[in-house]
Amino acid sequence: EEDEFIGFASLPEQVHRKAVRRGFDFSLMVLGDSGLGKSTLINSLFLTDLYKDREIPDTADLVERTLTTVKKQIEIEEKGVKVRLTIVDTPGYNDAVNAEDSWKRVVSYVDQQFQLYYQAESGLNRKNINDTRIHCCLYFISPYGHGLKPLDILVMKKLHHKVNIVPLIAKSDVLTPKEVKRLKTKVLEDIKENDINIYTFPECDSDEDEEFKEQDKALKEAVPFAVIGSNTVVEAGGKKIRGRMYPWGIVEVDNPKHCDFIKLRQMLISTHMQDLKDITSEIHYENYRAESLLSSEVSKSNRERTKLKRDSIANLDKALETEQLLQEKEAEIQRMQEMLAKMQAQLQNNPNSQNGRLGNVR
Ligand code: GDP
Repeated sequence: EEDEFIGFASLPEQVHRKAVRRGFDFSLMVLGDSGLGKSTLINSLFLTDLYKDREIPDTADLVERTLTTVKKQIEIEEKGVKVRLTIVDTPGYNDAVNAEDSWKRVVSYVDQQFQLYYQAESGLNRKNINDTRIHCCLYFISPYGHGLKPLDILVMKKLHHKVNIVPLIAKSDVLTPKEVKRLKTKVLEDIKENDINIYTFPECDSDEDEEFKEQDKALKEAVPFAVIGSNTVVEAGGKKIRGRMYPWGIVEVDNPKHCDFIKLRQMLISTHMQDLKDITSEIHYENYRAESLLSSEVSKSNRERTKLKRDSIANLDKALETEQLLQEKEAEIQRMQEMLAKMQAQLQNNPNSQNGRLGNVR
């Protein structure tokens, strides 16, 4: 029976094995005002303490500080599958009085990663490119406001053609379920009204099973994800859980009834990581590449045009020079002719003198 197979049925397995050996790169950017729980959420998502060396700046520093992007890298391995995860944080975003400066740096950081990839891709060693392009941007929205702030709108609009934006309602435990719902609706309205393109989940294949379809639907309906982060593990009913303790009870990070943390983690890690990477490279990066190619074509043709101009200027100079030389020659000839005429006139007045020499001149 074996003979009846050609053997390509094992292709997925080969692809899988090769991909696993290589490992996966994933870069995540977190964006939003300081204190919205970005570092706490990242630690909760990846079960690590990426931020243990952090110093909390005091307020005087905050005003002075300009934005620097901080990159943290970890390698996580689960059942033999390795993911090299890069977290790009932007401490000081919107802290400084000059908020404009801070979003410009964020945008230029995203562009720079495209540029690095573009250069690497056109270089010699194209096989082992270190991909630092941002695959996803978790945008933290304040739970205390009433929707998107003008700065949120501005930044999202600057970024939405460059990166997959996933909006989050930060610290959602400070809101009641009703308030969360209201804020979610308002944020979605603001996004629509301002023509902001956030990351859209791909359509679910129709041949998927019902459970998967349900899960997918719930995921889509939860956007913008209301999240809670916590670095502490608390005991509840004899179970150890990640949560936040309050006098009135415990808010559980991992409990889907309490917040959308699990949905966010599932989407980022288990179900949509590859799609986020595909969209980054097939849409956002291709946009960047097309723009770069276009602008380099324009500058090339500009260069050629100025070169042409310079050539014609050089030709013109040469022509002017020749013209000048000709005029000088003519003037000289005229002077000589005048001299000759004068000498002839003198000879005619005095026919006996210097006859022979004059004959030579003639
Ligand atoms: P970042 O500046 O955005 O990185 O914010 P941090 O992660 O440092 O969090 C700032 C403060 O908010 C810390 O005291 C956290 O304990 C607290 N915090 C973080 N996440 C949450 C949350 O989901 N809910 C509440 N209530 N507090 C949080």
